Amino acid sequence: KRKIAVMTSGGDAPGMNGAVRAVVRMAIAKGCDAFCIHEGYDGLVKGGDMIKKTEWDDVRGYLAEGGTLIGTARCAAFRERWGRLKAAKNLIEKGIDALIVCGGDGSLTGADLFRKEWPSLLAELVEKKELTAEQTEGHGNLNIVGLVGSIDNDMCSTDATIGCYSSLHRICDSVDCIADTAQSHQRAFVVEVMGRHCGWLALMSAISTGADFLFIPEVPPARDWKKGMCNIITEHRKMGKRTTIVIVAEGAQDLDLKKISPEDVRKLLAEELGLDTRVTTLGHVQRGGQPCAYDRMLSTLQGADAVNAVLEATPETPSPVISIIENKIVRNPLVQAVQLTQQVADTIARKEFDKALHLRDSEFAE
Ligand code: ADP
Repeated sequence: KRKIAVMTSGGDAPGMNGAVRAVVRMAIAKGCDAFCIHEGYDGLVKGGDMIKKTEWDDVRGYLAEGGTLIGTARCAAFRERWGRLKAAKNLIEKGIDALIVCGGDGSLTGADLFRKEWPSLLAELVEKKELTAEQTEGHGNLNIVGLVGSIDNDMCSTDATIGCYSSLHRICDSVDCIADTAQSHQRAFVVEVMGRHCGWLALMSAISTGADFLFIPEVPPARDWKKGMCNIITEHRKMGKRTTIVIVAEGAQDLDLKKISPEDVRKLLAEELGLDTRVTTLGHVQRGGQPCAYDRMLSTLQGADAVNAVLEATPETPSPVISIIENKIVRNPLVQAVQLTQQVADTIARKEFDKALHLRDSEFAE
């Protein structure tokens, strides 16, 4: 009987529970044993009760729950070989040689490194007599499958990450609430939204709420943006608008890579245009709450395919990441997806913004 484990790692995202539920139930439906690793890589390194056999009923009700019920953590030990040695020992002791990781690019990088090192980790454990040769027999390869869980939608290779649409809904709801009070008092609001180095949440929320102006990391504003923004907002006010909403991505920067601070934007609107302006940093409400229908659907389809990917893998198959492209669930090489994602960040750091946008939009197989 194959034993398949699932874990959530890195920043939590709505829909992660749906992925866990789908993996557990698909694994059981395919005649395998399912295990949940609690508290991310921390649990993998600690072992014992943190790696729990999970039954069909254990994940009942998971679909509609926000956050991740099996916990997540940042784990320094897993970045070190000794931590991965302990992790390998813990898995082998339970007979597990397939791991489905739902997390961001950091978690998936760690997972692929673990797979690459797996044979040498087992050899070292046998040599140190921490495992017997019999225990490792038949477990010479570790199957890793990635699911991208992130509210930021910051991973190349997929059109949407698990969690990003729930977060987008939350931002739209919040901006709608802010717009009501802005309308009543004819105020301006500068709203900072999450996304780390990626402007997807800011861009899509600006489109979805009809914001007046927007700042995202990938497209820094022109040098004279202060004048440009004031002109646009003055125009909108002249047209009869009683509200002003400016969305600032948390990673937004100018052409010199200096952070665009919501407070500076507020001062500008207050001092140059005389608008009563407030800053709202939405913060962690963007991460929590019920997953939207799209994230429930995405995590379920992808979790189920992750189990199929484990069962179909050969030692030669590169670790896949389960993606969605043009509404189809597809598998892409995990390493390539992570490398392209990191390349976008490097390109922005070199101030090659157009190139970064092209990379982010590029057909994955190119
Ligand atoms: P995310 O998965 O959301 O990008 P992090 O980058 O914080 O979040 O990664 C989550 C965890 O994954 C880390 O705390 C660490 O345990 C593991 N990890 C990240 N990068 C690596 C790496 N290069 N090698 C080994 N483990 C890593």
